Order: sequence, then C-alpha cells, then structure tokens
Amino acid sequence: MSSRVLVIEDEQRIADFVSKGLQGAGYTVEVVNTGKQGVDRVHDSDFDLILLDLMLPDIDGLSVLETLRNRKVTCPVLILSARGAVDDRVHGLEVGADDYITKPFAFVELLARVRALLRRGQPSAERLQVGDLVMDCVRRKVTRAGEGIDLAPKEYGILEYMMRNPGKPLSRTMIVDHVWEKDYDGLTNIVDVYIRHLRSKIDDRWQRKLILTVRGIGYMIEAQPDRAPAAVEVS
Ligand code: CA
Repeated sequence: MSSRVLVIEDEQRIADFVSKGLQGAGYTVEVVNTGKQGVDRVHDSDFDLILLDLMLPDIDGLSVLETLRNRKVTCPVLILSARGAVDDRVHGLEVGADDYITKPFAFVELLARVRALLRRGQPSAERLQVGDLVMDCVRRKVTRAGEGIDLAPKEYGILEYMMRNPGKPLSRTMIVDHVWEKDYDGLTNIVDVYIRHLRSKIDDRWQRKLILTVRGIGYMIEAQPDRAPAAVEVS
C-alpha cells in the first residue's frame, strides 16, 4: 500500500513539482493551497507524511503545525522553508516538525528526506522530542537535527529519563534511582561523568545546549529560548 502524503503549499509551481515527483516515486499525493484546508484535511483523513510550506496565504505554516501537534497529530512533518529563514526552521523543529528542506531544492533531496521520515514509521508516544533532539524509543535510536547519535545503554537510559521529563530539574539521586538498580547511593558522582559523555555527544557540536546544569539540584533537559532563564546556568 502506498504511503499518503499531504502537500500544503500555495505556490502552484512547487506543489506541481513535488506532487508529480512523489507520484512518480509511487506515493499517493494530495495538494492543498491554504493552511486552513491543510488542517481540515488532516482532521478528516490519515496521512503518513505532511509537507508543509511556511509562507501560506491564510494561516502561517508554523501555526498550522502547532494546531496539528496540539491535536495530537503525530505523523511526520517536513517543512518546506524559504531560503535563509533559519529562525523559522529552528522554530519549526521546536514546535514539532521532523525535518526541513530549504527552497529551492532538488527533487532527489526531497525524496531522500521523505523516505527517511516514512521509514521512522508511526512514532506517536514512543517518540520523544526536545528541540531538534529526537528519541525513537522503539528502535532505541537518537538523532539531533536528523543526525544519528550512538549512545551506550546507561547514557541512553539517562537521556530517556530526562527527555520524559523535559523542563524538570532532576537530582543526581533521582537519575541514579531511575537508571541504576536501587540503593546505589554511592553512585551519584557517576551521574556527572555520564552527563559529560552525553553532552559531548548531543550538545558540544551545537550552539543551542539542551542539557542544563541546575545549581544545587542536578540536571535538566530543555529546548530553551535564546535567553536562558536567570535561575539556570548553562555549563
Ligand atoms: Ca508559500
């Protein structure tokens, strides 16, 4: 059965280019030209993937995305963003897009991303996301901005616990209790070691840090706005 793709794009030239290409690759494609039509179609029907333009004539694409995510629509969303609109892309990932592609793009590039997103399957509750960091709990795979990250089992366990509690400061004892066997009080220092490993894998190369040190408590994961709250020290 072929995957169903909804294209929400007001520019007819791009909509045609994308839909013809995807149909040629074996997908079932439906095109709508406004944000409202997009929201309505997703409400009425099941799609396996949504391609979403950000600059729409009525509701802007990010608001469409927020509406869909608020309605617990979990199907992957690939943003078609205008050239250079970095803030939009970052914001898009924060409000629940799975990937983005910048116009103009080559069809092969689009197709590669469509295939990658569809391979992820139906993520729903088994998928955790903080900013552009995504954890697929079924396949035990972690990606940041689409890039795969290899984690040791304990690193994965700590990260999963943190991602299930985004924005909540977690003490070293809480982390140890969740990730190690019980009554390992002497292990709290090892949490710092693992957090250091995790940071080197998921944060060091990125400008926006997700793992935060919370003074006097422990650690927290959060996709922060550009300015950090005063109570949190990013280290
Ligand atoms: Ca547009």
